[in-house]
Amino acid sequence: MTDIIQLLPDHVANQIAAGEVVQRPASVVKELLENAIDADATDISMILKDAGKTLVQVIDNGKGMSATDARLSFERHATSKIKSAEDLFQLNTKGFRGEALASIAAIAHVELKTKRETDELGTEICIEGSEVKSQEVVVTPKGTSVAVKNLFFNIPARRNFLKSDTVELRHITDEFHRVALAHPNIAFAMYHNGSELFNLPVSNYRQRVVNIFGNKTNEKLVPVDEETEVLVVSGFIGKPEYSRKTKSEQFFFVNDRFIKSPYLNHAINSAFEGLLKDGYHPSYFLNLKVDPKTIDINIHPTKTEIKFDDEHTLYAILRSAVKHSLGQFNIAPVLDFDS
Ligand code: ADP
Ligand code: MG
Repeated sequence: MTDIIQLLPDHVANQIAAGEVVQRPASVVKELLENAIDADATDISMILKDAGKTLVQVIDNGKGMSATDARLSFERHATSKIKSAEDLFQLNTKGFRGEALASIAAIAHVELKTKRETDELGTEICIEGSEVKSQEVVVTPKGTSVAVKNLFFNIPARRNFLKSDTVELRHITDEFHRVALAHPNIAFAMYHNGSELFNLPVSNYRQRVVNIFGNKTNEKLVPVDEETEVLVVSGFIGKPEYSRKTKSEQFFFVNDRFIKSPYLNHAINSAFEGLLKDGYHPSYFLNLKVDPKTIDINIHPTKTEIKFDDEHTLYAILRSAVKHSLGQFNIAPVLDFDS
């Protein structure tokens, strides 16, 4: 009998990994936006065609890449963000797995243009289904542009599985909201089929929330601020009358990363107890800062779930911070002694 185990060729391994990393155009959006942020961009534009099915292009003014790094960035497990396992416990970057670009390039046509500030000329690389088609020296501004075209061109089953443009664009908008809310200090724009959907200047957090969700939002936001040894909470909750039938305005960011946490969501709901009509959900835009050593963001490939060392304490602090803000709001009206 002969041995039967073989190592998978890279392009097959990349396609399999892509199944985890890229579910839909919105997954590409998330990965490209996060890479732009990790590159210290201060201005990020995103151009979409057909809800990202035909094109997702992200252009940043970040630090760019050398020609060699540009080529390496498409290799699996190629990352500039961690060097050792210990680094995983003090991450300040969004990425670290080094598999996003490799995965995306396995299932789409990718055109990368990049240049560092100190380089006179930049690099352009075209890849189709993990195969490098060309690499050239080009004139291009400082920063990086990644265009991802014809997603799932080589996996018809996955392409057919995509939902209508309306649904896919909603997923993209959700990702865009999350990233833009986490980074009010970065300017973002988003265009779809030639129209501008968002144009968000650098601003403070309140302005960013208002710029995304509309002017009416402003009067409804109640600040939350609480600082303890293990947790710093800042941001806003919506006044109870601002509650919604959907959960579309519920945002937790942990160390500037959007996360989903049914447990912490429960803490907010319980702080709102008795204030909401049945079937309504509170709005919240909350930033939590914790010591990176006390969380593990490694439990999910797309990293929207994290594990906290001490969930119960965070729950209690969060609940009391929100209750406190709601209480302050109920104490109104403020007396005006001068009149
Ligand atoms: P990860 O983000 O996990 O490191 P990626 O596959 O997303 O892995 O990217 C691989 C590497 O390519 C990054 O570590 C970074 O060095 C480089 N890179 C990707 N996108 C950009 C960008 N927009 N600007 C500068 N460098 C980038
Ligand atoms: Mg990345």
